[in-house]
Amino acid sequence: MEKICVAVRVRPPICHENSSSTFWGVDDNQISLHKLHGSPISGVSYTFDHVFDENCSNSDVYELLTKDIIHAAVDGFNGTAFAYGQTSSGKTFTMNGSSNDPGIIHRAVNDIFQKINMISDREFLIRVSYMEIYNEEINDLFAVENQKLQIHENLERGIFVAGLREEIVNNAEQVMKLLESGEVNRHFGETNMNARSSRSHTIFRVVIESKGKDTGSFGDYSSSDAIRVSVLNLVDLAGSERIAKTGTGGVRLKEGKYINKSLMVLGNVINKLSDSAKRRAHIPYRDSKLTRILQPALGGNAKTSIICTVAPEEIHIEETKGTLLFASRAKRVTNCAQVNEVLTDAALLKRQKLEIEELRWKLQGSHAEVLEQEILKLRNDMLKYELEREKLEMELEKERRSHKERDQYIRDQLMMIENLSSLVSDGDGSSSQGSMKESPTEECHNRGDDFKTPCFKAAPKAFVAKRSNYSQLPDFSPLPDSFSDVADEDTWFKINKGYIADLDSLQTTPARKVQSFPPEDVTPNYLNKKYKKELQNLKRRLELVTEEKNELQRKLAEDIEVKDRLKGYISKLKQEALLAREMPQRLCGSVTSFKDTYEEVLSKMQRYTFDGKSSTAKLLRCISEIGSILFSTMETSISNTTDRHKLSSENDSLIQEYNKMLSEKLKSTITSLILSETASSEDKQTKTPCSCNFEVVAWSRYHVSILVLFFVMILGYFVPFFRTLIF
Ligand code: ADP
Ligand code: MG
Repeated sequence: MEKICVAVRVRPPICHENSSSTFWGVDDNQISLHKLHGSPISGVSYTFDHVFDENCSNSDVYELLTKDIIHAAVDGFNGTAFAYGQTSSGKTFTMNGSSNDPGIIHRAVNDIFQKINMISDREFLIRVSYMEIYNEEINDLFAVENQKLQIHENLERGIFVAGLREEIVNNAEQVMKLLESGEVNRHFGETNMNARSSRSHTIFRVVIESKGKDTGSFGDYSSSDAIRVSVLNLVDLAGSERIAKTGTGGVRLKEGKYINKSLMVLGNVINKLSDSAKRRAHIPYRDSKLTRILQPALGGNAKTSIICTVAPEEIHIEETKGTLLFASRAKRVTNCAQVNEVLTDAALLKRQKLEIEELRWKLQGSHAEVLEQEILKLRNDMLKYELEREKLEMELEKERRSHKERDQYIRDQLMMIENLSSLVSDGDGSSSQGSMKESPTEECHNRGDDFKTPCFKAAPKAFVAKRSNYSQLPDFSPLPDSFSDVADEDTWFKINKGYIADLDSLQTTPARKVQSFPPEDVTPNYLNKKYKKELQNLKRRLELVTEEKNELQRKLAEDIEVKDRLKGYISKLKQEALLAREMPQRLCGSVTSFKDTYEEVLSKMQRYTFDGKSSTAKLLRCISEIGSILFSTMETSISNTTDRHKLSSENDSLIQEYNKMLSEKLKSTITSLILSETASSEDKQTKTPCSCNFEVVAWSRYHVSILVLFFVMILGYFVPFFRTLIF
């Protein structure tokens, strides 16, 4: 059990009043009303967990009041933080903040993702939704078409808003974008007190699901794995205002009434909860949508903090006192928060995990970002599909219920018709009274279960009062079992304790004219026709409803088909990933056979060089070395690609290193060739040249140079080609 954490925040004055005689003073965690140049006024002083003065920032409020709740939510505790106070006291400023001082919602979202990233032994799935309660109707701020949503409760999910759109999110930026889009759909209105006054209560909800990574390796998710599911509500309430102050009328007045009503119910709930446990009677959570949704946060399984905002101006003194009173009451409320572990399929994480993880694993390392997006999209599609199915199921359930009610109505009508027809046949005198008396129960049984009409129960034997000479007065009433079916005058006397009514002198009350049913002027035949017609109408409606139901079922089947198609798409992606992973191995095989051929060709050529010392032989040796360097570069880079742990940057540096080696090799070969060329030309001048030999050497050098160029070109072309293919 822990107390709700309550803080008060005083906003900076909007206009400085000249004539004020009092002011609100903040001292540590105490707020008191002071006389202008003097001491606090006695009896108007309140103490809370924290009191923030006008110089405090949203960051201070977040750090001291909300941060712990957010962290606990990541650890599996439900959490709620809400802002309460009069219009223009700074609730929206505290929750949403401004561009240079972000509010609690923004800070909480950032904090959640930061904390999640630091927890390496658990995996998380975050869903967000945003709703507003406007005029006691729940609207979806992420999907304008979702209006007037209903609150439901079941064992698996607790209290939830059916059909509310939830978006799965991966990072804080996504959430901010969603919040911005939701903010556009929110109801604002202009009042005297605030040009952009929030006219609705908004609830930004984050559902955090998490699961330990060590409990099961990939593909080993057993049904016993517990998943933590916590719900975090960040609530910005609409302000309660005195209508005279805000100068509202028409639509604003209607809104104000609803706002005041729900805030009044919230106050009632807090009041009841703050009573001692013994005196706690029924808590009126169901009196407003707001308190129903926040039920777990108010005296239930959640950690809760309330920030009560007040305006410092003297004209708002009454509202400020009201807010402080509310805050004092709230301080006494205790909650009982515990980590929520779920074993059932209620956790979305559990349902989607296996499929998505498998996909992610297979595609790891290649086109990671694009595929992450794709996965997120698929996840959201699946979620939307589930929500739609939930909505359809609910509609179907509603239809079924109304169907049942109609059925019941038809049965009632039939029963009435039967009763009437039996009355009519009685009135006709065609069937004797005796015949009805003969077997009333039999008649009931024959009708079967479907159309049970209440039987006219005839008394087994007529209860007859018979006159006789009365006997002595008994002292006490006889036991009931001594009564027989027929009460003689003595028994009658005993029952009435000696009082005997003179039956002849009894005055009967004059008969009152009662509206008969059916009315006197309506003949039974007419009634029969009327009911038959009604029956036909009902049957027709029943058919329509059945058609509608069939239509819904057809839609459901269509949705299932869409899901199947999605599944097909996923398996196609998986196959492609598999192919992509096999590619480097195949490349490796091709390179090896290419290398073998190359080495064979070179060795054959080397056999034709005469002494092995000629420049041609040198050139061939060099080509052979270059070739083997190039091939090993390719082989290493391909094998690095298949090996997932080596980074592509490492691969790049390796290739650069080989490139450098190659260019140095080429350079040195060319230099040595030039040198030997010069030496041979000098020789040619001094010695008698052997023209025949020289020609052969020149001829082979010419071809070898072409070959070198050819290989360098081929390899130069293939290396980048392989690289683009691999990466
Ligand atoms: P509420 O939501 O309670 O009706 P708002 O949050 O809209 O009130 O605040 C009314 C005005 O006061 C806004 O212009 C807001 O910027 C300003 N304001 C409220 N609190 C503060 C604060 N602590 N510091 C600066 N400006 C504030
Ligand atoms: Mg507001």
